[in-house]
Amino acid sequence: MRQVIIIGSGPAGFTAAIYAARANLTPLLVASSVEVGGELMNTTDVENFPGFPEGIQGPDLMAKMQAQAEKFGTEVLYDDVTELQLDGPVKKVTLGSGAVHEAATIIYATGSAYRKLGIEGEERLSGYGVSWCATCDGFFFREKEIAVVGGGDSAMEEATFLTRFASKVYVIHRKDSLRASKIMQERAFANEKIEFVWNSTVDEILGGDSVTGVRLRSTVDDSTRELAVDGVFVAIGNDPRTHLVHDKLQLTDAGTIWVDGRSSRTSVPGVFAAGDVIDPTYRQAATAAGSGVVAALDAEHFIADLEDASVEEPAAVAAEIIVG
Ligand SMILES: Cc1cc2nc3c(=O)[nH]c(=O)nc-3n(C[C@H](O)[C@H](O)[C@H](O)COP(=O)(O)OP(=O)(O)OC[C@H]3O[C@@H](n4cnc5c(N)ncnc54)[C@H](O)[C@@H]3O)c2cc1C
Repeated sequence: MRQVIIIGSGPAGFTAAIYAARANLTPLLVASSVEVGGELMNTTDVENFPGFPEGIQGPDLMAKMQAQAEKFGTEVLYDDVTELQLDGPVKKVTLGSGAVHEAATIIYATGSAYRKLGIEGEERLSGYGVSWCATCDGFFFREKEIAVVGGGDSAMEEATFLTRFASKVYVIHRKDSLRASKIMQERAFANEKIEFVWNSTVDEILGGDSVTGVRLRSTVDDSTRELAVDGVFVAIGNDPRTHLVHDKLQLTDAGTIWVDGRSSRTSVPGVFAAGDVIDPTYRQAATAAGSGVVAALDAEHFIADLEDASVEEPAAVAAEIIVG
């Protein structure tokens, strides 16, 4: 049996692995079969992760995190977790291959997924003008014209934030009124740089090497037209990846995994969660990494308490734990 199994290979998972490995917990990290490295694999320049003043490509940053985790003894498996058994002192992790691994603690760091438009050009131009995160990428659009797609609070927040950099922000919305709260709407309406494009959906994101525009379709008369923009921010929501645990761990109203205060402790003893899957608000690589630290330290303390415990059951569990 392992001391700790980490699920997820984004900044939260690999940072938890670095800490757990350096604490001699020889973690097993299940990285996923196809999406190793997490969300930053979908982007180009990352300019806000500390330690890289010149910026770093998302995939390069994730390769460095993985190398650092492996250097201290993390074992990485390129597979998906398909089932979890979290009750009791021995947690069971089933993989796509059918293999079952056991551990005293689990660190759940599966991230969250920005909702996609699912249109031509979106995937291809991701990181080349298409973004899901104004905080991450707004800085690249100084004096540019950009489009924000969406009509909720997050779309208004992204649009308003982006006016700090962009010369013009078009908000494209399928209806003629917004879902966003009144205060967010008023703020956006009052901003001279924001222009609303009502009753429109985006059919296609245009551009060769980078975004040059969008093809809009009217929801009123089905007509199409092109709008020239240098960037497209998709702000139609975000889904924490909780499908494996939604009936096993307590969730918040926002759909994230509930954790106890500033800790990573979930509603089940021995199960810790970190990164975007617990974070409805900040969703940044550095915050995910920070919460990976918290999860590794919490798991370490939990294991130490097990080993110290004099009551029968935890002592038996501690005796079972094999390093490596
Ligand atoms: C296009 C884009 C650009 C961004 N740019 C920046 C930026 O410049 N700066 C910044 O700070 N933030 C940026 N972000 C946000 C940042 O990427 C996230 O906040 C961060 O990656 C969250 O880390 P995480 O470890 O919680 O989750 P993720 O990075 O999402 O990683 C979760 C991992 O868990 C894996 N996983 C999920 N389910 C399973 C399973 N069942 N079995 C095994 N593995 C599983 C996933 O495949 C994934 O590898 C960007 C996000 C996007 C989408």
